[in-house]
Amino acid sequence: MWTIEEGTEKIRSKGLKITSQRVGILKILKGRKDHPSAEQVFREMKKDHPTISFATIYSTAQILEDTGLLQILTIDGHRVFFDPNPEPHAHYRCRKCGHVFDIPLPPGTLKKITEASGEMVESVQVYCYGTCSACISREREKDREPVGNSKN
Ligand SMILES: [Zn+2]
Ligand SMILES: [Zn+2]
Repeated sequence: MWTIEEGTEKIRSKGLKITSQRVGILKILKGRKDHPSAEQVFREMKKDHPTISFATIYSTAQILEDTGLLQILTIDGHRVFFDPNPEPHAHYRCRKCGHVFDIPLPPGTLKKITEASGEMVESVQVYCYGTCSACISREREKDREPVGNSKN
């Protein structure tokens, strides 16, 4: 996982200015495992940077993606999620609770796709959908409730 210093170095390497807002975004994203949505990062940024714009969140995320520090996930039709782990892995989104989490890809996936296609594959996005195990067990709990309980 990258550090704030590595992050600012990458931004600088693109010829861009290091602003306190960009550093703030790096701090919010660094080490995150929960795949925050752009809206969530925007809300968190607002606390310390009340003048931050949505466009700054996106443009900074785009820079970080271009420099290989961030994955921008379009797993959901109407929101984007950020993942600061650039290592190839797949994502799962639960259709019931909306939770997004990592699932591993078989080792050497990029190499295998590169070999099979003859094209240099540098990154891959795999999106999986279903009902997560937490939701399935919650459903089972509900079914076990004694008869007579009000069910909405
Ligand atoms: Zn779920
Ligand atoms: Zn992930």
